Amino acid sequence: MPNQVLAELRWEGEQGALLFRDVRYLLIRPETLAAFQRAVEAEVGAARAGDLLYAGGFTGGRLSGERYRTQLGLDRKQAVEFMCRMGTEIGWGALRLMTFDAATRRFEVEARHSPFAAAYVDGASEGVCHLLRGVLGGLGSGLFEGDVVSREVGCAARGDAACRFVVEGQ
Ligand SMILES: [Zn+2]
Repeated sequence: MPNQVLAELRWEGEQGALLFRDVRYLLIRPETLAAFQRAVEAEVGAARAGDLLYAGGFTGGRLSGERYRTQLGLDRKQAVEFMCRMGTEIGWGALRLMTFDAATRRFEVEARHSPFAAAYVDGASEGVCHLLRGVLGGLGSGLFEGDVVSREVGCAARGDAACRFVVEGQ
C-alpha cells in the first residue's frame, strides 16, 4: 500500500521542519505522549486529563479536516475517509471508517494498533486514546458545523481487540 504522506513529505533542513502540503508535522515517540498523559493524570485525574488531551486533538482535527476538505473538494464522508487514510499514513494506527450517516450526523471509526494504547502500558479501565478521540471530534464538529460528542467505546489498552470511536453531532 503506497504511503502518500511519505511520498509528499518535505523536509526544510534549515528550519528542522517536516511539511505535508505546507502543513508542519512532527515525529514524536508514543512513549513521550504516554509519559505526559500519565503525568497529567497524576495531577488532575484520568477524566480531566482525558478532557485536556481531547482538546489538543480537537484543534488539530478541526483544522486538518477543514483544510483538506476544502483543498481536495471532498464531501463529508470522503473527508472522514481521507483523515482515516492520512492518520494511518502518519502512524496513528490502522484507521477505518466503519459507518457514516449524514442524516443523523454520526460516524464510527475503528483504530487497530493504536500507538497511544500500545504505549500506555499497565492497562486501563477506560479508553486512553484521547488525542485520537479529539481529532475525530474536531473533524466531526467541522463537518457537522456544531457541537459533537466523541466517545471511545472500545480501547486496546483495556483489552478490546481494537479501539473504536463514535462521533455524534448534537
Ligand atoms: Zn484506544
